[in-house]
Amino acid sequence: MSEPTRITHWIDGKPFGAVADRSGVVRDPATGAMSGRVDFATSEVVDEAVAAAKIAFGEWRHASLARRSQALFNFRELLNARKGELAAIITAEQGKTLADALGEVSRGQEVVEFACGIPHLLKGGYSEGVSTKVDVYSIRQPLGVVGIISPFNFPAMVPMWFFPIAIAAGNTVIVKPSEKDPSASNWIAELWAEAGLPPGVFNVLHGDKVAVDALLDHPDVKSVSFVGSTAIAKYVYERGTSAGKRIQALGGAKNHMVVLPDANLELAADAAVNAGFGAAGERCMAISALVAVGDVADELVSMIAERVATLRTGDGRRGCDMGPLVTAEHRDKVVSYIEAGVAAGATLVVDGRAVQPDGEPGGYWLGPTLFDNVTTDMTVYSDEIFGPVLSVIRVDTYAEALQMVNDHPYGNGTAIFTNDGGAARRFQNEVEVGMVGINVPIPVPMAYYSFGGWKSSLFGDSHAHGMEGVHFFTRGKVVTSRWLDPSQGGLNLGFPQNS
Ligand code: NAD
Repeated sequence: MSEPTRITHWIDGKPFGAVADRSGVVRDPATGAMSGRVDFATSEVVDEAVAAAKIAFGEWRHASLARRSQALFNFRELLNARKGELAAIITAEQGKTLADALGEVSRGQEVVEFACGIPHLLKGGYSEGVSTKVDVYSIRQPLGVVGIISPFNFPAMVPMWFFPIAIAAGNTVIVKPSEKDPSASNWIAELWAEAGLPPGVFNVLHGDKVAVDALLDHPDVKSVSFVGSTAIAKYVYERGTSAGKRIQALGGAKNHMVVLPDANLELAADAAVNAGFGAAGERCMAISALVAVGDVADELVSMIAERVATLRTGDGRRGCDMGPLVTAEHRDKVVSYIEAGVAAGATLVVDGRAVQPDGEPGGYWLGPTLFDNVTTDMTVYSDEIFGPVLSVIRVDTYAEALQMVNDHPYGNGTAIFTNDGGAARRFQNEVEVGMVGINVPIPVPMAYYSFGGWKSSLFGDSHAHGMEGVHFFTRGKVVTSRWLDPSQGGLNLGFPQNS
């Protein structure tokens, strides 16, 4: 067996030298084998990273739009050519299948492509002659050093929701990835160096609460973008805003899929399986509650069960449909929810605990699990499980389904399946959720729209990427100017170009 790799911080364009006092174990979820040991930052190391990023900001904020967008284009080209390497790293530490990991990278790449257009995105307004010979115009400027704290389930895509726009807008960045799958961020840091980004503009700090708290408290960190569970998101929002920072903290989810009686049940069953069990349910946009309206439930449940029987759970490198869960502890926690569902009286239609995986015995296996006759007082319904467990709840009417979605504390994503345009339109208007799919089960918005939930799924008022991302990473300034005797001159016969 090969030696575990040491995974350390990336500060000021290079790996950090000193060995940490505290570190964490990184494992391959498909085998259970230890693959690496990741350094945990102390607050002193956080200070060093912030100091490097602050120095880099002094120059980067003045880099021309042409230069900044060129760095983004270079990064995009390298990423596009080598994304297979990144996908392999994700699968080895997070466990999702290679195909799914590639999909994650591609969705992140879309934000890089969006940020390549930063010269257009940062254009301000100009009003000539608001008063006699007085003009007013608006500009947007970068914040400074910005922090990004990400969860285990999307080690590449979630940081990419934020850093392309932050960097393109002239900020310098510190990413604190999940300690469970830290290597993707280091690979990305090396790619940035290759793309010609100056040292100190993109930094990676590894660690746990100590590093997070130090970033939240540091006076030179101007904003924090957090994605993770709701309890930590709330904590990050409260601590960060009391330290005077701009915070966007995206939290957990419990996404409902409402199926109306007129829906195409074959398509709805496909969608429920794909969105319920893709990435082993470890997606913040996974469907975990299927609300069957009217008399569709019996047929739908048997269609879903038939499809689940064809799924292959196993090592993500072997072409399986579904990989392992991220850690043994997380797998055990999900299993405890299945036990609680059975004890509460839900009907266990497919039991993932009995799975025969195509993988090593030490992997953190749990197969797709389907419950029927779930009620809203059961924890399989009320809690975010973040595993391959799909619960079917039966209701009589659209109004009951809507009420159920709106009463749930989470409001990240939801979907309605119907062929009735009027019903779908009513749902999009009435539902209290940030991202809505109409016959689309995982309605993750494109990079040029913004991603974010409502209620306990988001703390702060800025969603990720799109124009909200551009606004989050910049501050507006309005200039009122009068030139009583303007004079500009000089001869230059060259063809005008960017510099
Ligand atoms: P998590 O909250 O455990 O960890 C997220 C980050 O917070 C990690 O970097 C971790 O190191 C750090 N952290 C953990 N404990 C901390 C503490 N006590 N104090 C400060 N920082 C701490 O989340 P996770 O298990 O890595 O990810 C899964 C969660 O993320 C799920 O709840 C999922 O819904 C959510 N998520 C939400 C979205 C979204 O867009 N809303 C997207 C992806 C994941």
